[in-house]
Amino acid sequence: VKIIVCIKQVPDATDVKINPQTNTLIRDGVRSIINPFDMYAIEEAMRIKESYSATTTAVTMGPPQARYALEEAMAMGIDDAFLISHRDFAGSDTLATSHVLAKAIEHIGGADLIICGKQASDGDTAQVGPGIAVRLGLPQITFVRSVKEIVASFITAVRMTDDGFDVVKAPLPCLITVVKEIGEPRFATFLGKVRAKRKKIEALGPKGIGCDAGLIGLDGSPTCVEKIFPPRAKAGVKPIEGSEKNIKAVADEIKRHLRNG
Ligand SMILES: Cc1cc2nc3c(=O)[nH]c(=O)nc-3n(C[C@H](O)[C@H](O)[C@H](O)COP(=O)(O)OP(=O)(O)OC[C@H]3O[C@@H](n4cnc5c(N)ncnc54)[C@H](O)[C@@H]3O)c2cc1C
Repeated sequence: VKIIVCIKQVPDATDVKINPQTNTLIRDGVRSIINPFDMYAIEEAMRIKESYSATTTAVTMGPPQARYALEEAMAMGIDDAFLISHRDFAGSDTLATSHVLAKAIEHIGGADLIICGKQASDGDTAQVGPGIAVRLGLPQITFVRSVKEIVASFITAVRMTDDGFDVVKAPLPCLITVVKEIGEPRFATFLGKVRAKRKKIEALGPKGIGCDAGLIGLDGSPTCVEKIFPPRAKAGVKPIEGSEKNIKAVADEIKRHLRNG
């Protein structure tokens, strides 16, 4: 089985600040980590590698320092890594990011299984995994909490739903996105870190992966963030616990408000 894990380097969530003028994240001087859900994606790739004969590759699109995320992935046991980096990628939204990652995956020869995290802790859209699958014409299983088996070119996985779970069987090649229930990520070992430092990370730009210039960076990104604000209840809003039982309490509260104008 050939596995590609897509990992994103994100600002440490405890450190995130927003530029009030541009509504974008202030990334300068902020500690970066591997997106927490992508740690679970790496862990699942390692478990599959241990159960089946598999090769594992990590891919990230990001600035030059995103190579540290790839080194960390290799220190956890990932075999090799590709850094997709160029200033023309800057400003890419999820549409452009999934185009770039799909092109990169094609360029490095595709995979039987592509594993993404459920979502990134900064952008938080959960669109990139499904976007890659659509662009590569692959089936996708989202919110996977366990991979049951990979047999005869089929993967069977359990996916979480709002009210339980689904067991889904899909043909390979396939893309899955994983949730944290898949299992605690392992720590990188000292030996793993030494080995990772010695490995070469191949860096690729738009020409190298055959990207269409109009589909990447700001030009390829129709998304525009107009305003960012924390959802806040208006002063005086009173939460009422429960459902049907408390309809009378809700009605009384509305009447009181109407009376008070
Ligand atoms: C107008 C605009 C401009 C932006 N400009 C920038 C910018 O200049 N620099 C910047 O870093 N971000 C920028 N962003 C944010 C960027 O669009 C998203 O962070 C990115 O496209 C991924 O979306 P997401 O974070 O919602 O990921 P999600 O869709 O929530 O991520 C799901 C999964 O997809 C995979 N994945 C996501 N992104 C990557 C990646 N880059 N490499 C590998 N795997 C990945 C991971 O497995 C991840 O767990 C911009 C966003 C907008 C709207």
